[in-house]
Amino acid sequence: MNYLIRNGRILDPSVNLDAVLDLRVTNGIVSEIGPSLVPQNEEIIDAQGLWVTPGLIDLHVHFRDPGLTYKETIATGMRAAAAGGFTTVCAMPNTKPVVDSVEVVRYIRSEAAKTPVTDLKIIGAITRGQNGEVLADIQGMAEEGICALSEDGKSVMNADLMKQAMLLAKDLDLPIFDHCEDANLAHGCVSPCDAQKALGLPALDPIAEEVLTARDIQLAGLTGCRLHICHVSTANSAEIIRVAKAHSISVTAEVAPHHFALDDSEIWKNDANYKMNPPLRSSDDVAAMIVGLQDGTLDAIATDHAPHHENEKNLGLEKSANGIVGLETSVPVSVTALVKTGLLTPLELIDRMSTTPGRILGGGKGTLQVGAQADIALIDADTPWTIDKTKFETMGRNTPFDGWNVYGRVHTTIYKGQIVYQEGKIQV
Ligand SMILES: [Zn+2]
Repeated sequence: MNYLIRNGRILDPSVNLDAVLDLRVTNGIVSEIGPSLVPQNEEIIDAQGLWVTPGLIDLHVHFRDPGLTYKETIATGMRAAAAGGFTTVCAMPNTKPVVDSVEVVRYIRSEAAKTPVTDLKIIGAITRGQNGEVLADIQGMAEEGICALSEDGKSVMNADLMKQAMLLAKDLDLPIFDHCEDANLAHGCVSPCDAQKALGLPALDPIAEEVLTARDIQLAGLTGCRLHICHVSTANSAEIIRVAKAHSISVTAEVAPHHFALDDSEIWKNDANYKMNPPLRSSDDVAAMIVGLQDGTLDAIATDHAPHHENEKNLGLEKSANGIVGLETSVPVSVTALVKTGLLTPLELIDRMSTTPGRILGGGKGTLQVGAQADIALIDADTPWTIDKTKFETMGRNTPFDGWNVYGRVHTTIYKGQIVYQEGKIQV
């Protein structure tokens, strides 16, 4: 199917374009952009009042398949991505078994092929079984086309082993997506704060994140590996990254919507839908996340989409599993918290949600330029609506954003030139 998308506000950070224009999609490719394009034999999409953006790219999701499909399957995760405007997502390797071999990479790819609504990129583990002791089959997984390496959920505590992984990653031109947390400093379930003390909960101190962020940036400087810091949550971590960039170390970073839209005062609610790792931080840290997004220290917004079964999230703050779902709330929470408040322009937001993560991945994603694969999101940024978790495509219902009155609703998602999601429904 060919499309003419008319009168939308085209937001393409790759060329700094923000203008009301028409955009033509022919044979899966963006074929023309301009004012008042003459319709040919194609379907017309009226985008009056909508943003037309490159398909969103999420560098950090958990799809739970293989092994934990009571939380999420590859199919439900990919449908949630399409519903959230995402045409590319990168799945973390902490499945069962861990993604540490060619076989598991092949399994995920074959499952993903059954639900062609988004591009599922696979992240391989750094160590076998994420045991922190022996490197995984990094070479083999690289040959199978993984997009990055990560030990997400924990850090490789042996610095020498991490250095070896970085040298190998550099040779193979793979980035490392780094969960920074010193296991010896990481105790507790929420950040130190008034609510944590009042509720008698053990504190997870920011230093655990900051120490490992600093260590791995030094190792990246030494090895020349492309390092991407996952879910930055503290002002100090952001400052460490800012300084590293000023010293031309090859480091990028992401922040999750909950870390710029919520702070640790939510812990008073004593609800595990506010529990994630890293935990919600102080209002000063939240302010630093926003400054980091504004000045580009924090390159990307990534959801850390982490579906869990209800029975794993109703055990209180101390015992419940870490994480919340994010794919279907990222656009509304980001538009509401960052754009409607004037903290980011629409073009800056789409840069952090598509163009820059596309650059981190490579492969020409995150642009609407003529010749690019037609991965496109149409977003209604102006009509207020209310988030309703019962309508999610993901199997997870673990969200703190249910019932939020927001702006920013994904209207249509186009992947490889095909409408895969439109007005509340998956189209495939
Ligand atoms: Zn994660």
